[in-house]
Amino acid sequence: MTNYKICLLPGDGIGPEIIAEGVKVMNAAGAKYGVTFACTEALIGGCAIDAAGTALPDETLEVANASDAVLLAAVGGPKWDTTDPAKPRPEQGLLGIRKALGLYTNLRPVQIFSALADASTLKPEVIDGVDMMIVRELTGGLYFGKRERFYDEEGAGALGARGQRAYDTLEYREYEIERIARQAFEAARKRRGKVTSVDKANVLETSRMWREIVHRVGAEYPDVELEDLLVDNTAMQLINRPADFDVVVTENMFGDILSDEAAQITGSLGMLASASLGDGVALYEPSHGSAPDIAGRGIANPLAQILSVEMMLRYSFGMTEAADDIKRAVTEVLDEGWRTGDIKDAETPADHVVGTVQMGDLVVAHL
Ligand code: NAD
Repeated sequence: MTNYKICLLPGDGIGPEIIAEGVKVMNAAGAKYGVTFACTEALIGGCAIDAAGTALPDETLEVANASDAVLLAAVGGPKWDTTDPAKPRPEQGLLGIRKALGLYTNLRPVQIFSALADASTLKPEVIDGVDMMIVRELTGGLYFGKRERFYDEEGAGALGARGQRAYDTLEYREYEIERIARQAFEAARKRRGKVTSVDKANVLETSRMWREIVHRVGAEYPDVELEDLLVDNTAMQLINRPADFDVVVTENMFGDILSDEAAQITGSLGMLASASLGDGVALYEPSHGSAPDIAGRGIANPLAQILSVEMMLRYSFGMTEAADDIKRAVTEVLDEGWRTGDIKDAETPADHVVGTVQMGDLVVAHL
């Protein structure tokens, strides 16, 4: 029997509640397909700061590196909010583990569950059929380039006695673009066969290089349609004709912004999963945060976490049938009218509003 080692990182807030449901669904899918999962829990984020004084203890990285995949819930909360640069912050755990595991690709599926179409702020006819995958470069570009803030006379403004100056650097290397482009074309091959490459080639040199390299990689995939779109136009087209997009590939900062815009199209944060892939151990997590406002009340929506398990089975273990099963089970549960508090609407009968554990149980029952 196949056995996979999973590093579980519940984190903070609703994290422990939703990850328990993810594990429940993972084990049920495993039982159906003859696979077992050995889970080891480790600390990340605020709970790690409390226990070890750092958001990413060495021990956590050791467990992650020794596993076949990492399943994370969420980190953060008001308890650890600080503007003091000397104090540790929960988010350092997230950036740290992405960097340490070399996770250069972020996959964010954006799909509409038809039962939840009303949750979107866009008209039903606009969002009908939305099913895209945002492929964001995660370890290069502006967020990782050289940056500095300093004083100089030239920067003196009317408000300050000393002039301040700051810069961030947007830099990419050829191999970084090549490998993310390849991930996008491979993903498109398994989907509807179209890649939209987003850049700002009319202004930025990195974007002109991006476009050139994406086209070079694209030549290896003649079966995949490739279009270029400027980032400002993409921001408009995402809400104008979202169903036209299949795979959208872009650099780190554009991807950060566009993936949140695309997430909003669905209108339900508690439904969106993500995968971060590199060349080794991959990490799967919901797109939402730790929801401290509802933590500990048993009402959090576990579906984004459960859909993160679906992505893990699909991308790390090639368990396509099991992953399809989880997606089908989630769709059926929603079609039957079951809702957690965040996705219910005025028409949801009170006896169909369920808590975190019941939602997990329903998905298992449909597997
Ligand atoms: P959030 O995503 O935690 O919550 C936003 C709103 O959505 C809240 O009202 C919350 O109750 C609700 N919500 C989110 N997930 C839900 C779920 N599964 N079920 C039901 N309702 C849900 O974002 P925030 O409030 O801006 O941030 C809270 C904390 O989370 C902060 O400390 C922030 O830094 C952290 N955060 C962590 C991550 C991460 O771990 N990847 C991402 C974003 C924010």
